[in-house]
Amino acid sequence: MEDCIFCKIVDKKIPAGVVYEDDKVLAFNDIHPVAPVHVLIIPKIHIANVQALNSENAAVLADIHLAAQKIAEKLGVAQSGYRLINNCGEGAGQTVFHLHYHLIGGTNLGAKLI
Ligand code: 5GP
Ligand code: ZN
Repeated sequence: MEDCIFCKIVDKKIPAGVVYEDDKVLAFNDIHPVAPVHVLIIPKIHIANVQALNSENAAVLADIHLAAQKIAEKLGVAQSGYRLINNCGEGAGQTVFHLHYHLIGGTNLGAKLI
């Protein structure tokens, strides 16, 4: 989608530190990491957020989770643990309106959700 920063990363028009790629999913380091491991996992197709999922496109959620497994292994947090976070909507802190999951780890995250 035009004017979507993450679509531009998918199209390699903007550089990113890619850590994983397959035909459905791209994952890259967050530009402002909040933990030693902070990766954004996105579908290659433009979906604004969870509210824009439907029965036609929701299979990408499985692809994202399977990518998360591989990224966690690759970056050494599969055993220590990691958090997958999705912010849906402005009120939840979503700033980029292309569906993405934050994979955060490499530090003790504790049990607090917010
Ligand atoms: P949100 O707040 O929408 O859940 O998360 C958006 C995330 O995208 C933020 O953590 C922000 O640091 C990251 N981000 C925004 N623009 C870019 C960019 O151009 N490149 C990368 N690698 N990350 C970005
Ligand atoms: Zn997009």
